[in-house]
Amino acid sequence: MPMFPDAWMAELLSRNDIVSVVSEYVRLSAKGRRMWGCCPFHHEKTPSFSVTGDKQLYYCFGCHAGGSVVQFVMEMEKLQYTEAIKFLAQRVGMELPNDVDDEKLKNERAKKERLYAACKEAARFYHECLLSNMGKEAKEYLAKRGLDAKTVKRFGLGYAPDSWDSLLLHLKEKGFTENEIKDAGLALSGKKEGSCYDTYRNRVIFPIIAPNSRVLGFGARIMGKGEPKYLNTGDTLIFNKRNNLYAINMQKGKQINDILIVEGYMDVISLYKHGVENAVASLGTALTQQQARLIKRYTNKVYICYDGDAAGQNAMLRGLDILAKEELKVRVVVIPGGLDPDEYVRKNGKDAFESLKDKALTLPAYKLLCIERACDLNTDEDREEYAKKACAYVSTIEPVEKERCISQIARKSGLSRETIMSQCGATKSSKKEETFVKRGNRREKKDDESVQRRLKAERMMVAYMSLSKDNAMYVMEKMAQEDVQFENEAFTEYADALLMEYSEKDVIDEARLLSTQSASVAEAVLPALQLSDELSDSSRDIIEDCMKTMQADAIRARILEIMNGADAQMPDFAERLMEAEKLKKQLSRLLES
Ligand SMILES: [Zn+2]
Repeated sequence: MPMFPDAWMAELLSRNDIVSVVSEYVRLSAKGRRMWGCCPFHHEKTPSFSVTGDKQLYYCFGCHAGGSVVQFVMEMEKLQYTEAIKFLAQRVGMELPNDVDDEKLKNERAKKERLYAACKEAARFYHECLLSNMGKEAKEYLAKRGLDAKTVKRFGLGYAPDSWDSLLLHLKEKGFTENEIKDAGLALSGKKEGSCYDTYRNRVIFPIIAPNSRVLGFGARIMGKGEPKYLNTGDTLIFNKRNNLYAINMQKGKQINDILIVEGYMDVISLYKHGVENAVASLGTALTQQQARLIKRYTNKVYICYDGDAAGQNAMLRGLDILAKEELKVRVVVIPGGLDPDEYVRKNGKDAFESLKDKALTLPAYKLLCIERACDLNTDEDREEYAKKACAYVSTIEPVEKERCISQIARKSGLSRETIMSQCGATKSSKKEETFVKRGNRREKKDDESVQRRLKAERMMVAYMSLSKDNAMYVMEKMAQEDVQFENEAFTEYADALLMEYSEKDVIDEARLLSTQSASVAEAVLPALQLSDELSDSSRDIIEDCMKTMQADAIRARILEIMNGADAQMPDFAERLMEAEKLKKQLSRLLES
């Protein structure tokens, strides 16, 4: 990460007061020493997002997002560190210092800027072409698909002329080099050495735009028959389809209840035209984890609605698992008659589409439907086959969800509820299993408690360290003496940064230090810094307790490791037993002291 000169950073931060920056995105009201508002990073109705003016930090008690004004801008505008600094500098009219030391990053940044600029110019060019005489056929095509001029403009649609070099010539005229044009994915190298031609020809163009309004790449659709139907920008320095969603820029700054994921550009646009304005498209068929996380920044409720064909349905099944893994609440919209969302909304309008959302299926219900569709339920044999497959799936899901599924399978297969229940492993006779599960849960809960206790102790230590240089030195010495370490790597990283900072000055600026940390470190450290209100310089006894907690935890972990035989150095059982006994004594001495 490039270092900006201290004095310059200090001025940047003092001129970008966190309360005023955050207020541009979130309505804040004062309560106590903090300002409160609804979190822009997770979906909520009651405010748990707080900003402290005197510390210049923000923190969300709901999703634990937090940091300085720099992290806030990085998250909010989806920017890298250096870009965020630049954004803040621009906001208050400051020039970037000339002596930013990281030459490589500066070059890459400059190159990215050129690619953004080339894509923006290309989008403008394609749009102009669509509106000109050249775009007559494309305009007719879009009109035939039900789009009006207003929608075309809203999405910045364009037309790539039927020519090998019209965009190339245009961009060169605007001062872009052939390499820049190729690196942006707008032109390809020809077979003949040094030759080069436009990537998209005689196609309708859909610009892919980031939430910060930058054009990143393009989708291009053929108008008549032919393959491939769609061409998309491949990976470039500024675009990776796995990290982006088409039309996510339309959701920026809106309070939305849910997001609808569809397959294609035309679905998004057509839905939008008919008043369904919360649709995005995965670029290509399979959803990725990064895309799921991107959605999570806007809402935790997702509807997914893919094309009715087999490819679409399979892609949807894969996507569902990814969304569920990210703990998004997912519902599947099933369109009758195997229509695409675009076709359906054009035929039946917004209200009909919204009512499909009301009838959307939960994940288990949808999976059962897929199993049902794969069997035809006309013979006893088929119904049995269906029941077996359905029960095999249902036995893997939560008991609460099981209940509803069992009735459905019984009804569809014509078999008795009891039969289905025993096939799903949900019968009352499995009492043994039940107690086993219960016991397992209890143990898990206890583990969870000890994890929480340890985390709290480590947070306290970090909070204490951040209060003064003396404290930091004291904690580090003590930890070295007792040979304990933070379990959380982020704390280790932050503690090192604190010590570095203290080696140069006696008083540190938390917000500034935090602004130089990675997002994951800041995320871990923020809850700790909130604890510093509870501490004073004379809180050494609290620190002693925390240290004890950490030591005890380390000993317990060691005992467990030895008894599980995880230590290859100690193959002999009797030896392990002795060692464990020794450690247990050590543990009780520690807890008594
Ligand atoms: Zn939050």
